[in-house]
Amino acid sequence: MKNSGKQKISYNELLERVKELEQENESMAERAGEVLLLSILGDTISTLEEKQELMEELLEKISILKYIPWCSCYELVNGKYKLVECYVEAPYKNQCPKEIVLSKGAFGEIQEKGIYCGYVNGIIENKYELPVTEKTELLIIKFQNNWIKNGIFLFMDEKKRYSLKTKILVVRQAINMVLERIEKLSYIKQIEQLNKGLEIRVVERTKALSQINSKLLNEIEERKAIEEELRLAKNKAEDSDKLKSVFLANMSHEIRTPMNAIVGFSELMESGTCEESELKEFSRLIYGNSLSLLNLINDLLDFSKIEANQLTLHCACFNINQILDDVNSLGMMLLKQYKKNNIKIEVRKSSPDNSAIIFTDGLRLKQILINLLSNAIKFSFQGVVVIEYKMNRRSVDFSVEDNGIGIAAEKQSLIFNRFSRVSDDITKPIAGNGLGLAISKTLVEMLGGKISVESSIGQGSIFRFDILSKAVCGENCIVYK
Ligand code: ADP
Repeated sequence: MKNSGKQKISYNELLERVKELEQENESMAERAGEVLLLSILGDTISTLEEKQELMEELLEKISILKYIPWCSCYELVNGKYKLVECYVEAPYKNQCPKEIVLSKGAFGEIQEKGIYCGYVNGIIENKYELPVTEKTELLIIKFQNNWIKNGIFLFMDEKKRYSLKTKILVVRQAINMVLERIEKLSYIKQIEQLNKGLEIRVVERTKALSQINSKLLNEIEERKAIEEELRLAKNKAEDSDKLKSVFLANMSHEIRTPMNAIVGFSELMESGTCEESELKEFSRLIYGNSLSLLNLINDLLDFSKIEANQLTLHCACFNINQILDDVNSLGMMLLKQYKKNNIKIEVRKSSPDNSAIIFTDGLRLKQILINLLSNAIKFSFQGVVVIEYKMNRRSVDFSVEDNGIGIAAEKQSLIFNRFSRVSDDITKPIAGNGLGLAISKTLVEMLGGKISVESSIGQGSIFRFDILSKAVCGENCIVYK
């Protein structure tokens, strides 16, 4: 026989070779299984968003691809492992305990080495016993991640051809892959949570800022209002200053005019060159001018008392008719003094003497009426000045009407202010200090009433006021101080 050149292989060698090939085959199959598992898992886990579902998917895939009927996952809480997820087939279906406790030995080994592989005896405490037979093999792998701080994967099988440990080792990579994915999901959830928290804080901050903003706007408004108030107060102060200067200029005129008359006529009388009729006329003029001065001084005193809040009333029973008679007599004198022969004074007494008695400050009432009457005479050149009153149950209405020059509508609200005169031209022929109506208004208000004017230029004016009469007194009423 021709030698083929090939060496003969012994039977034993052949057997060895076959074994080697079989092992290679097996590890190839193993690798193929691993690659298959990873690729299937890889596809699935990229679309899953729930940790629970990921775990379920992992256990299911391992169970199917590795022919392991029991795959479960537990989390360590207070010394017990609580079931997170499981995938079990017959004969274990519906037998997965909700929690288990590992024996001390198994627990220590898992904590130390991260893996436990062996037969069942004494691994799980009795009351949580798993449905195992003598052949049952158990593999426990420890894991830790963000979601489950301390957990185990538990695999169970009836040992057949390959040990559970060999089978499962390839699975470790798959487990890590899923756990990584879970970790990522946890971070994403955390970031989402943080984001939400941030959004809430941003909303709250925006709200707080807008509140501060509107507070600031309010403050600006308030400040503007205060500035406006200050501006008005400043204007008022300036006006009042101006009025005071006009008043002082006016006052010196008011004092000098009667003083000059008094001094001038006294000198003439002293010179001894005057006739009897002239002497009479001069003494009348001196008397009239002295009265003007006296009035001015009285007004100034009243005014300073009002300013110092020291004006007091002295109320008693007074007869209005009597007061009007006195006012009338003074009016007649003024007519003579101002040489207003074309003016008549008419006093209308609406109540008889015995029932025209009221309780008030009669002197102040007379002062108001004289103020109004002297203005009516001063600012009229002809016609009648009518003074009248009407008694009510608890008050009395008075009016003084003239046919004089009248007051422009826009000035009517000003004339009751202190120092105010419709025209501040001190060269005008009509004398006055601008205090009379301000004093009258204060007095009327103190007597419990109000004063007003109705007037039109060239037609005349009518001043009305009322006062309270606390009690209508009888003839013999007592005078109260
Ligand atoms: P005065 O001493 O200047 O009269 P008043 O306070 O009594 O001061 O009056 C203020 C101003 O009101 C007067 O200067 C005058 O311009 C106006 N007035 C007051 N009464 C009359 C009136 N009966 N007719 C026209 N003007 C009047």
